Amino acid sequence: MDDANRDTAGNYDTARRELVADLRRRLDVDERALAAIESVPRHAFVPEDRQSSAYADRPLPIGHDQTISAPHIVALMTDLLDVEPGDRVLEVGTGCGYHAAVVAEIVGSENVYSVEYVPELAEAARERLHWLGYDVVVDAGDGRTAFPDEAAFDAAYLTCAPADGVPDSIVDRVRTGGRVVAPIGPAGKQRLVRLTVGEEGIGREDYGGVRFVPMR
Ligand code: SAH
Repeated sequence: MDDANRDTAGNYDTARRELVADLRRRLDVDERALAAIESVPRHAFVPEDRQSSAYADRPLPIGHDQTISAPHIVALMTDLLDVEPGDRVLEVGTGCGYHAAVVAEIVGSENVYSVEYVPELAEAARERLHWLGYDVVVDAGDGRTAFPDEAAFDAAYLTCAPADGVPDSIVDRVRTGGRVVAPIGPAGKQRLVRLTVGEEGIGREDYGGVRFVPMR
């Protein structure tokens, strides 16, 4: 065990606590999102040769040309979802399953429905999540059409960026009063937005420039 980020007990608890302390100083997000980050073993979601970097605040490759987002982005997006225990959440872009686990810490894992386009990633994430005790429902497929029978959700989020805005078919699956958090726009011009589904239309807030993989 020559990994300097492991503590004397051979685990990553200290590294994870330090990451969360750093996020707490830098971000203006609710304590619930930070507590969720502190509960999820990010090293268990990244390839073995990346585990020593799991608690640095940066994205990491997870195979198939995809990446796990940096922890501060996961914290911010989780905060913007504004969910409570028992809320039902749709995730588009499971990737390795890390972000789903963070949201599951808040709403309860049986309330998270996640869809992933790459079948191999979906299968690996499903196994990993279940092995770690998260009963997240993971399907392989396209987020535009996934989980038709599970709507309406209290909130949805995308971890891949649709170039032309959030597809209507996803917004339509969120209840009135619910939220959609997503990166939108073409490569190099993406913005993180939060949509609020209202009786009389969709509200939109902008949270700045971001970099995500494109939605397929
Ligand atoms: N939340 C993930 C981040 C994954 S990166 C994590 O914590 O690891 C974004 C993922 O979105 C990629 O795995 C990509 O394959 C997936 N994706 C891209 N387009 C998609 C689509 N149309 N439907 C579902 N997933 C999609």
